[in-house]
Amino acid sequence: MPVIDLHTHSLCSDGALSPDALVRRAAAAGVHVLALTDHDAITGLPEAAATAAEVGLRLLPGLELSTMWRGLSVHIVGLGIDTAHAGLLEGLDRQANARGERAERIAARLEKLRLAGAWEGALALAGNVPNRISRTHFSQWLLAQGHVSSLQGAFDKYLGNGKPADVAMPWVELPEAVALIRNAGGTAVLAHPGRYSLTRTKLRLLITAFCEAGGEAMEVATATEKPDMVRYLGQLAGDNGLEASQGSDFHGPHMPWIQLGRFPALPAGCRPVWRRWFSDTDFPEQLPLLQG
Ligand code: AMP
Ligand code: MN
Ligand code: MN
Ligand code: MN
Repeated sequence: MPVIDLHTHSLCSDGALSPDALVRRAAAAGVHVLALTDHDAITGLPEAAATAAEVGLRLLPGLELSTMWRGLSVHIVGLGIDTAHAGLLEGLDRQANARGERAERIAARLEKLRLAGAWEGALALAGNVPNRISRTHFSQWLLAQGHVSSLQGAFDKYLGNGKPADVAMPWVELPEAVALIRNAGGTAVLAHPGRYSLTRTKLRLLITAFCEAGGEAMEVATATEKPDMVRYLGQLAGDNGLEASQGSDFHGPHMPWIQLGRFPALPAGCRPVWRRWFSDTDFPEQLPLLQG
């Protein structure tokens, strides 16, 4: 089977590698098809496409939209988007401004907790682009300053749900995010459904809402998911008529437990979303195996 990784980040959001370095690392790891899916940003795609053409890797233009559903932050991946679509660009502008404003409020909360320099620290880690600042950057700054002993600790103590520097999320509502992606010719994929700490009942409600909004696929195989959960997500995808996606959610070599192209296989019976763009004959080195 070709190696297809449909969820990755570069330093155009909260990843550690440039788009160029990410694509080279993916090619070296044996990835045939890569989607770059930065949070609320498509700015890395031209550079990624240029490198992909050079190294012979197929790049699928993507993004990961931050959305709200019933007051909860839910991520929607968009695959195969038209990056010049006016409506999408306008929506991304709004998301970027919201991200910058939220970052200011998070920094103010941290400063109030006598964590001086939070704004400057996070801003520097985000390449001095205010509208790119993620909670990831705050967590990296908190760790570097010795205020916490791990990135997870920064979320547990300050940045996570209900913690002192948790600021209301200003993102688009889930149905609008799905529309932004679909209107730009993309396919909407519910990202890492197992990571929202939902009861099975609430997870089913989320998937129903996503389907009603026009969602087309959900991530089934992701790097951090246990085999039982992968099986369950595959079943939920089938039950709801959704195609199945797969990806690492790679953020950089500093998180070595997540590697490009490495995640469980899709369970049997899933309809892989990547068949919208590629067929097995696109990967000639696989032909003898398929024929055998
Ligand atoms: P934001 O988009 O600014 O809300 O930041 C969310 C990002 O923070 C996610 O995409 C993850 O990369 C990262 N993140 C979320 N929760 C954790 C956690 N518990 N530990 C480490 N990183 C996290
Ligand atoms: Mn992230
Ligand atoms: Mn996500
Ligand atoms: Mn992601």
